[in-house]
Parts: sequence; C-alpha cells; structure tokens
Amino acid sequence: MQSAQTGHDVRTERLIEWLRDAHAMEAQAETMLTKQASRIQHYPELKARIEQHITETQNQARLIEDCLRRHDRSYSGLKDLGGKMMAMGQAMGGMMVNDEIVKGAQMGYVFENLEIASYKILIAAAEAVGDLETKEVCERILVEEIAMADWLRDHLAELTHAYLTRAAEPHVEAKR
Ligand code: MG
Ligand code: FE
Repeated sequence: MQSAQTGHDVRTERLIEWLRDAHAMEAQAETMLTKQASRIQHYPELKARIEQHITETQNQARLIEDCLRRHDRSYSGLKDLGGKMMAMGQAMGGMMVNDEIVKGAQMGYVFENLEIASYKILIAAAEAVGDLETKEVCERILVEEIAMADWLRDHLAELTHAYLTRAAEPHVEAKR
C-alpha cells in the first residue's frame, strides 16, 4: 500500500522511521559516551575503548544520515535531537552514584545490545524492501556494536575487581 503523504510503500515508510530512530539512538550514544569518557580518571583501558567507539558512533550517525537522504532528499537530522537531551540527563544522573564507573559500563553494555537489536531489525527491513545499500551499511555497523558489547561483557569482571580494589583503599578515588 502507498502512503498518500509520502508516496512511499508502507514497508519503506517503516524502514525510514526505524532509520530515524537509529539516528537518534546514535546521537544519544555519542552524548553518553563523550560524557562517560570525559569523567573517567583511573580506568585508562575502558576510557580508550570508549573513545574508539565514539569515533565509530560519529561515523555510524553519518552513514545512517546518508541512508535517510537516499530515501528523503530533504532529510535533516534536526527532529532527532530529543534523544540528546535525554542522554545528557542520564549521564548527569550517573554522576551521583559512588560506583559510576561500574554502573556506566553496565549501562553501556545494555545500550550496545539495544543497538544490536536495532540493526538486526533494520537489516531485515532493508532486505524486505530491497534497499541493499542500507542493508550493507547496517551490517557493517552491527559488527562494531557487537565488538563493543563483547568488549564490555569481557571486561565487566576485571573492571569490578579494579573498582573494588580502589574502593577498599583509603584516600583513593574509585568511582571514576
Ligand atoms: Mg552505535
Ligand atoms: Fe554502539
């Protein structure tokens, strides 16, 4: 069925909506990760991995924008800015806790898995409408999200031990 408003097939319309959601998600990710990385003082390995993923995230947002523009030449990312504000609130909330480094890594792992699910859905939707360029872009992004999720999962125990060791030491800051 065609939409009267856009002339797009309803499946293409859904794909475009989900691409917009992904773009908002990446904007949110960039804000969250940047805040997180800037706060970290004593966990250089985690900080470096987050900084690597910030670069990947910025590139992902651009790739998704390109996908959106191929469907809608008037596309501007402006409508997707709501998530940035939300992310700022979440990042600020995280500063109140004395285990922010552990909570941050935990939330990071949850967020990467949200991204993994989103790109799995986008890949299937792009396939369904025959948008093979979007499918291929999302497959490439998915690899980066899986790598980040795996890295966090594989380092949660080590990070927790490092945090607890610092926390047990008098006059040593552990939280970040
Ligand atoms: Mg991402
Ligand atoms: Fe990610």
